[in-house]
Amino acid sequence: MATITENATFDKPKVRQTKMLIGGEWCDAVSGKTFATMNPATEEKIADVAEGDAEDIALAVKAARNAFESGPWRSMDARDRGRLLNRLADLVEENFDELAALETLDNGKPINDSRAADLPLVIDCLRYYAGWADKIHGDTIPIRGNYFCYTKREPVGVAGQIIPWNFPMLMVAWKWGPALAAGCTIVMKPAEQTPLTCLRMGELAMEAGFPEGVINIVPGYGPTAGAALVKHPDVDKIAFTGEHKTAQIIMADAAQTLKRLTFELGGKSPNVVFADADIDAAVAGAEFGLFFNQGQCCCAGSRLFVEESVHEEFVEKVIARAKGRKLGDPFDTGTSQGPQVDQAQFDKILSYIEKGNAEGASCVTGGSRFGDKGYFVEPTIFDNVTDEMSIAQEEIFGPVLSILPFNGVEEVIDRANRSFYGLAAAVWTRDVAKAHRIADSVRAGTVWINCYDVFDAGAPFGGFKMSGIGRELGEAALANYTEAKTVTMNLE
Ligand code: ADP
Repeated sequence: MATITENATFDKPKVRQTKMLIGGEWCDAVSGKTFATMNPATEEKIADVAEGDAEDIALAVKAARNAFESGPWRSMDARDRGRLLNRLADLVEENFDELAALETLDNGKPINDSRAADLPLVIDCLRYYAGWADKIHGDTIPIRGNYFCYTKREPVGVAGQIIPWNFPMLMVAWKWGPALAAGCTIVMKPAEQTPLTCLRMGELAMEAGFPEGVINIVPGYGPTAGAALVKHPDVDKIAFTGEHKTAQIIMADAAQTLKRLTFELGGKSPNVVFADADIDAAVAGAEFGLFFNQGQCCCAGSRLFVEESVHEEFVEKVIARAKGRKLGDPFDTGTSQGPQVDQAQFDKILSYIEKGNAEGASCVTGGSRFGDKGYFVEPTIFDNVTDEMSIAQEEIFGPVLSILPFNGVEEVIDRANRSFYGLAAAVWTRDVAKAHRIADSVRAGTVWINCYDVFDAGAPFGGFKMSGIGRELGEAALANYTEAKTVTMNLE
């Protein structure tokens, strides 16, 4: 596994694949259209990528359906599906440097993060689900009468997978791992901002030996390619990660064909610091929990509740850490914060900073663009934020931290739950009982105690309330890609 190198600059990688993958072939869009994918650090074009729409989706779904209904995938032993996933993990490992650099180029995330977080998690996730492939089974059930009754868990069929741009390759692994372990076939639409690592993963999947049509990739835009995938009658299931507003459109579009849906959506996660916490650890957790990945994490700890008696000390320390973040060339290993992914996100973040100021919060550090090229935003902290302000309610998806002072356990539980989101939460305290009181009372799919953003392929992740439906990762994700079948045989 690669380690982090101090004070080095990595080379930009070559872009090897810009076409779409349908039925094992790399092809142009039927329309011949392409779209540009941009380097967010320089605002320059990286490459033109095939732009899929409904016609390409139809071809990809046909290929996925054929691969599901007939051919080597259908008859392959489960254990051999696992071997293919392991082979893909090996190939990701063999191409580690190139993939990490490609992720940094297309997304803008610092190379250290691509190498230390994204890539290792991708490899781990693929291996984890490789291990599940031959362990998905049903039960025998002692029903009344002289019958033999058992259940099987069969693949749900053709899975449509729509992913965002914040962890492009990791989202590929989270989606492909359980779907392939379960025996589904896939049509994936990567985010229009970051299609490159997904396409490269498609090449590696072909090299690993996945039969043609098992994995299809159609880059393109949401309302065209994405919507066509959601509406297609031959797609059995949609797994989507993105904004809750997009999920609402998808849910409506999927109603006609009653598709199975799983959603992993946004958040406004409370990060709660009690006065009895290890303050320096909590400060480091507050910084990491919000600023990691340029604040572009669905589970970002964007509502930082700090108990009043330590509020002043805490704010000073967290400001110092925010000021210590080094913005710059994401290919430089000294960089801790890269650009936001695109102009739209950059503009949205700056408009939230304006709203924070207008609604009366105190901007105690940052608050502006950084530099004059690339979508860089200064690490920004608002203090004395109140629950009803926009910056306490809406997902900003950028390096903007809102600090909300509080007093006591009951108050903070009530306020932490005042959100229609429920993705994650964290609590910092040395009091075990208090930690569990928060873990039990906060309506969120994940609660971290004295840590933040600890992810593992084995630990389920997903949202309460409007943060999602279903769970990814762990054994839980296999349920998203399987149907239970009950078989009853008369023994008379
Ligand atoms: P973000 O704001 O983070 O880009 P989105 O929810 O808009 O979040 O996008 C996440 C993914 O959903 C992307 O791949 C995008 O192209 C896709 N998408 C956007 N709109 C639709 C839609 N109407 N139908 C299907 N997919 C969509």
